Amino acid sequence: MAYVNENYLKLPGSYLFANIARKVNAFKQEHPDADIIRLGIGDVTLPLVPAVIEAIHRATDEMAKAETFRGYSPEQGYDFLIEKIIRHDYNSRGIELSKDEVFISDGAKSDTANMQEIFGPDNVVAVTDPVYPVYVDSNAMAGRLGDYDSKTGKWTNLVYLPCTAENNFIPALPDKKVDMIYLCYPNNPTGTTLTKEQLKEWVDYARENKAVILFDAAYEAYITQPEIPHSIYEIEGAKEVAIEFRSFSKNAGFTGTRCAYTVVPKSVKGYTKSGEAVELNALWNRRHSTKFNGVAYIVQRGAEAVYSEEGQRQIREVIAYYMENARIIREGLASSGLKVFGGVNSPYIWLKTPEGYDSWQFFDKLLNNAHVVGTPGVGFGPSGEGYFRLTAFGSRENTVKAIERIKSVRF
Ligand code: PLP
Repeated sequence: MAYVNENYLKLPGSYLFANIARKVNAFKQEHPDADIIRLGIGDVTLPLVPAVIEAIHRATDEMAKAETFRGYSPEQGYDFLIEKIIRHDYNSRGIELSKDEVFISDGAKSDTANMQEIFGPDNVVAVTDPVYPVYVDSNAMAGRLGDYDSKTGKWTNLVYLPCTAENNFIPALPDKKVDMIYLCYPNNPTGTTLTKEQLKEWVDYARENKAVILFDAAYEAYITQPEIPHSIYEIEGAKEVAIEFRSFSKNAGFTGTRCAYTVVPKSVKGYTKSGEAVELNALWNRRHSTKFNGVAYIVQRGAEAVYSEEGQRQIREVIAYYMENARIIREGLASSGLKVFGGVNSPYIWLKTPEGYDSWQFFDKLLNNAHVVGTPGVGFGPSGEGYFRLTAFGSRENTVKAIERIKSVRF
């Protein structure tokens, strides 16, 4: 008999986006002429920049000739891309890495979901709450989180680190010992960041407790304030305890093209039950080369072009476009009396729903009265209740229109 992994049966349905789609469809049926604006999506909308497209075209032509054709990429990625990543994203900030500490992959989603495989089943996991759901669900599938309680919206063995307006979205250190800590900054969904000093507390905690920080920096390119760290390795000691995830999805529009990378420094250790230290880099290399067969050559050449002078200039323009949308949303909503967070170092705006509205009631109100779709905060975890996420990835025209409409709604 083929037994199933029963941990999968414990997962709650992916209720959030299905429920949004159901509500929007029902509304459309009743109001077929309504012009609905979607500011809920986390996907980018502007095309790949010309420098990337040109590099992809050149690489495609190489694939057409026997002399320049490439088959399998090294599983870890091509040196031409890894070298640019190290020089541009790390050396420029005083961080040294060797080439075998960087792993090119098809996405930060798969890497953040898969990394837990190299850790033992008994580790205690901590996540900030609200959270990007992939960290939670992937650990639940591996059986690390106990049972899901639908009344509280919590897993019995998961440590939740609430991030709300009350603590300025700064997670407090856990009161019980944890082993794997997921941090995402700039944060999805709250759009907030941590300073170097605030991150240092987590690095120190991890060093003291032999824990590992899984740091998701997928939105690093949206940081505008110079004092905010772009990489966790800007924090002293982090190379001993942190794995960092980066992606070309949000900085360069690769959501459909697929390219990302993960940094696993050789100095980051896990431990055997008998207390022996093991390099996580070796385990991840083993996992990655066994289960992944490399990102397409054409795509890696496209990602390389992100680091060219024109590529940098062009992606900066795209990011500035989205960040102007973020400013329009943030300032527009604040001027109408709503409490807004994020949107300064991130494309996400997190707002406190007005008195009398929970996340879903606010969703319904915006859909019905402004024909605007956002994402209810409670969908990202129990501490998201009473909050709502809007994104800056829409067109300028729709963003302006949506905010004007929301401003005219009486709550
Ligand atoms: N990490 C966070 C926090 C995200 O919000 C997303 C996408 O929305 C990802 C990772 C996924 O990135 P990728 O497209 O590289 O898989």
